[in-house]
Amino acid sequence: MTSETGGRACRDHVGGVPVRLLAERVGSTPFFAYDRAAIDVRVAALRSALPGDVHLSYAVKANPMPAVVQHLARTLDALDVASGAEMRVALDTGIAPGSVSFAGPGKSVAELSSAVAAGVLVEIESPLEADRLVEAAERLGLRPRVAVRVNPDFEVKGSGMRMGGGAQQFGVDAETVPLLLKTLHDRDVEVAGFHVFSGSQNLHASILAEAQERTVDLVLRLSDDLPAAMTYLNIGGGFGIPYYTQDRPLDLGLVGSRLEELLAARVRPALPSAQVVIELGRYLVGEAGVYVTRVVDRKISRGKTFLVVDGGMHHQLAASGNFGQVIRRNYPISVAAAQEAEEETVQVVGCLCTPLDLLGDKVSLPRAEVGDLVVVHQAGAYGLTASPTAFLSHPAPLEVLV
Ligand SMILES: *Cc1c(COP(=O)(O)O)cnc(C)c1O
Repeated sequence: MTSETGGRACRDHVGGVPVRLLAERVGSTPFFAYDRAAIDVRVAALRSALPGDVHLSYAVKANPMPAVVQHLARTLDALDVASGAEMRVALDTGIAPGSVSFAGPGKSVAELSSAVAAGVLVEIESPLEADRLVEAAERLGLRPRVAVRVNPDFEVKGSGMRMGGGAQQFGVDAETVPLLLKTLHDRDVEVAGFHVFSGSQNLHASILAEAQERTVDLVLRLSDDLPAAMTYLNIGGGFGIPYYTQDRPLDLGLVGSRLEELLAARVRPALPSAQVVIELGRYLVGEAGVYVTRVVDRKISRGKTFLVVDGGMHHQLAASGNFGQVIRRNYPISVAAAQEAEEETVQVVGCLCTPLDLLGDKVSLPRAEVGDLVVVHQAGAYGLTASPTAFLSHPAPLEVLV
């Protein structure tokens, strides 16, 4: 079903259907296809590796396709959203509103009000936001359940994207949390606990485990200032997936065993009523998706072969290296052709009129002709909705969950 390059998988089937047949079934290229069974396999691996009492939450921003969110709502315990629109997609799944958490800076008064009205848990990102939330809840005559998103007083090395430690737009600085809790003390709100998210795309189990340990140190210190027993403890996530040749997959077993030790020694005894939550985006869906394009032109320019495909960075920005990457490297790419062919070294470029639209640089692929399919892998997270779809005004791609 799949071939390996480094720790990365190239899937030639999606949901058991060969990509070539899937393209016929979808009817037009380019498109994204997500593999339901691959998502299930990933969820099962997480369930068996992580302590049984840990809740798993899906960070909807990784892939907000409603069918994907619906599927994950059935198998996971919670959904984490970061906008009012994501919250509506989450609530449309029928999940209990109390199992939806709403994080992210700059929530509008309208977003805060609808979250409170729905009974969604709001993660407070600043003192001003706390005021707005309390006022919105007073207007509605409701008692909101909130958590404080904490900007930790430590940094996690080895994350693709750091989102905690130092000065941040995310969360309330750890050292100012006691003051915030004090101001919330005589307001009509339930402060359930804390959320600490220190970074994303980490492939090192020992670093993730250390971050979890330091997160626990921090929340144990902060828990003294909570008005009641902690019922919610979101320790973040940050589990990475292999995108590049030298990447090795995360040792999930090690993450799980270190977390079990941590919970047994320090969390369950001290915080017996705290529900521990891990929230993951790309680790759940990233490897389950492909972006399928078709070769429109094959041209030679001064000795280099260019495959021009009908998709590009307007749908799959990350594969072009322009989504926060410091050094551009190739995402795994394959050709889904009817016949085997000799390998050649090519530039795979999109159809946008900009040199940024490069999907594969000096990549070795079986010779592809006009009409053949070129598949970009690891495309299930931060693909379509993390791309500048309006750039060059090409049509939007289809998305299917198979
Ligand atoms: C983006 C985000 C995530 C998901 O990150 P992944 O790297 O996709 O797992 C989780 N939690 C928060 C708070 C986020 O902002």
